[in-house]
Amino acid sequence: MMSFRSLLRSQRSLSLRPSKKFLALHSSCSCYSASAAAIEAERTIREGPRHDWSKDDIKSIYDSPVLDLLFHGAQVHRHAHNFREVQQCTLLSIKTGGCSEDCSYCPQSSRYDTGVKGQKLMTKDAVMQAAQKAKEAGSTRFCMGAAWRDTIGRKTNFNQILEYVKDIRDMGMEVCCTLGMLEKHQAIELKKAGLTAYNHNLDTSREFYSKIITTRSYDERLETLKHVREAGINVCSGGIIGLGEAEEDRVGLLHTLATLPTHPESVPINALLAVKGTPLQDQKLKYGR
Ligand code: SF4
Repeated sequence: MMSFRSLLRSQRSLSLRPSKKFLALHSSCSCYSASAAAIEAERTIREGPRHDWSKDDIKSIYDSPVLDLLFHGAQVHRHAHNFREVQQCTLLSIKTGGCSEDCSYCPQSSRYDTGVKGQKLMTKDAVMQAAQKAKEAGSTRFCMGAAWRDTIGRKTNFNQILEYVKDIRDMGMEVCCTLGMLEKHQAIELKKAGLTAYNHNLDTSREFYSKIITTRSYDERLETLKHVREAGINVCSGGIIGLGEAEEDRVGLLHTLATLPTHPESVPINALLAVKGTPLQDQKLKYGR
């Protein structure tokens, strides 16, 4: 193993230390001024989270140098969480395909020819077996996803899922669901069954949303998040990058999430996996910088 002393020596030989000339040239340079990421991280650690973000505030953090974002993001993370801890979760699709919605990225929509066949809700035995396997593999949370617009008018299926939630909670695991839009009373029933968190992504900004989905509105999504929050269930809500959105749309999504009365406990940020047969099949992922 390389010692600290030999590491220093190797750094010298690779000229990784800045020369006096470099320091002289850069000591008066404005490139050392604090980035928005640094300023906001310091403020957050001092004063806690805020909800009064403007899009400009968020854009200036978004435009901070990437290493600053990593470093100061890690500082805030370490301030709020035990940095040695990660939670292992297992996600199971308990009802795949045949969805009536038209989300342009999704191979589970029945509107697109992607080869994904609509299936029925998995049986209790199959779900419980999968949950047991996940627990044995070290997962402490089990997430169940169903490809539905909503569960209104699916009372039998919804009651089955309530049972799955209860039984998996009884195994000592946290439980998360993503079942499409929820009505208020359904969120309350899920809470009573012991649901830990509910996932419902906003996907992108309000402005770009209609280019991606036309069968339900942005406000309907926010309404579901409100029901989940009011029922006392943790909110998991994020989006997808690479849908063809502009940087302003990424900022817009973050702005919506960051100005919610209570921030989501989880914000999943996915990168588009362009699937053949979907309208976004030829979409190339651009990182935008
Ligand atoms: S609602 Fe969910 S499952 Fe249905 S098409 Fe949209 S992303 Fe896919």
